[in-house]
Amino acid sequence: MRIAVVGAGYVGLVTGTCLAESGNDVSCVDTDAGKIERLQRGEVPIYEPGLEELVRRNQREGRLRFGTDLAQAVGRAKVVFLAVGTPEGEDGDAELRHVIEAAEEVARAVKHYTVVATKSTVPVGTAGRIQEIMGRRARFEVDVVSNPEFLKEGAALEDFQRPDRVVVGAGSDRARRIMRELYAPFVRTERPILFMEPRSAEMVKYAANAMLATRISFMNDIALLCEKVGADAEQVRRGVGADTRIGYPFLFPGIGYGGSCFPKDVKALLATGRRHGVDLDLLRAVEKTNERQKRHLLSRAVRHFGDLAGRVFGVWGLAFKPRTDDMREAPSVEVIEGLLGKGARVQAYDPVAMERARRRFGERVTFAPGPYEALEGADALFVVTEWSEFRNPDFDRMKALLRAPVVFDGRNVFDPEEMREQGFSYFCVGRTAAG
Ligand code: NAD
Repeated sequence: MRIAVVGAGYVGLVTGTCLAESGNDVSCVDTDAGKIERLQRGEVPIYEPGLEELVRRNQREGRLRFGTDLAQAVGRAKVVFLAVGTPEGEDGDAELRHVIEAAEEVARAVKHYTVVATKSTVPVGTAGRIQEIMGRRARFEVDVVSNPEFLKEGAALEDFQRPDRVVVGAGSDRARRIMRELYAPFVRTERPILFMEPRSAEMVKYAANAMLATRISFMNDIALLCEKVGADAEQVRRGVGADTRIGYPFLFPGIGYGGSCFPKDVKALLATGRRHGVDLDLLRAVEKTNERQKRHLLSRAVRHFGDLAGRVFGVWGLAFKPRTDDMREAPSVEVIEGLLGKGARVQAYDPVAMERARRRFGERVTFAPGPYEALEGADALFVVTEWSEFRNPDFDRMKALLRAPVVFDGRNVFDPEEMREQGFSYFCVGRTAAG
């Protein structure tokens, strides 16, 4: 099938590449000419495990192309995916400017019956708006379907190729048939394609992300209480998650959720609630807890050291989670800004996100070539992202490099008892007595 993907970011690039890998003829277009030039050379501008190899192979075999000419790509496509960004706009609602602009351009470019599938996360009712644009501008019949994406950065290829489910909001049988055919290779292990109305499909995406964010904030509230009452949040997590009605995923306490989706999607859902006069009190609390949590370790550090001015902190991890270089809404930003704001110096290390962090912080942060270099002469270490390479470090080497053996662990990667035995002052989330 001939496919066009509009927007070659995390979602568009993964979608286009996986669809090419299953034998389709895919053109990805983006307005960012620099990004497209790099992709044409086989350079993937984001870090996503396995992606570069798959991009190159499909490019070489002629199934995957990159360009800036939307009209050309759309004119030959049977299905056009919209995968442009929907950042946080005014009053928290999703900013639809890119989606609407892309839709207008797509409408002018279609040359025969086309399915336009929205992969971007968009507020309920957006498919209807795009269908209206098609009705006004397109010279051929267009079916607009909502096809939200559930991939996780860091495991995006696996998630796309073996999804838990595919959600398709479509109003026409013809569009449903085409989408079923397109996704058939990815749902062969009895994973469902759930067909529904576009409005419900759009809501599924927000409800799913809001639920995951809720689990995280809930566990962070419980962890705070654990600290106060002397319970161990890790043991509580294991006991609670063992209940099959609850399950283990997304119950790890930490320094809050971040990334390009949860924060903005929770805000956008709250905005939808406000627009329709529905008070989503629970979600407001989820957000509030997350804000508090991002500052949790910083207040621990203030309590431990008093004044932070002139102190030096090593920071391990900058990306919002492991296996990605994405720093959008990363808790590391809050932690580092907090430290700098209190007059401290920061020496940071991340296996893949340093380039992006450099653009964010410039000269204000020292970037270390490795995790141990980040500790040289530091008063303490902050663990912010749970990269697996941080899990079993050389504790003796750490102690030799740090001015004092103090660790603030925002992801509970170490065992408190072992840390104590090793002679560290160790602060994590929900596992140490409040003091
Ligand atoms: P991104 O910022 O990485 O990529 C968006 C791309 O769209 C950019 O390269 C930008 O240059 C391009 N673009 C903007 N306007 C354009 C236009 N008019 N024509 C062509 N290209 C245009 O964003 P992303 O992380 O891939 O997210 C895209 C959408 O998918 C968002 O709505 C997001 O909420 C949703 N989503 C993201 C993830 C994720 O993990 N990143 C997961 C599920 C859903």
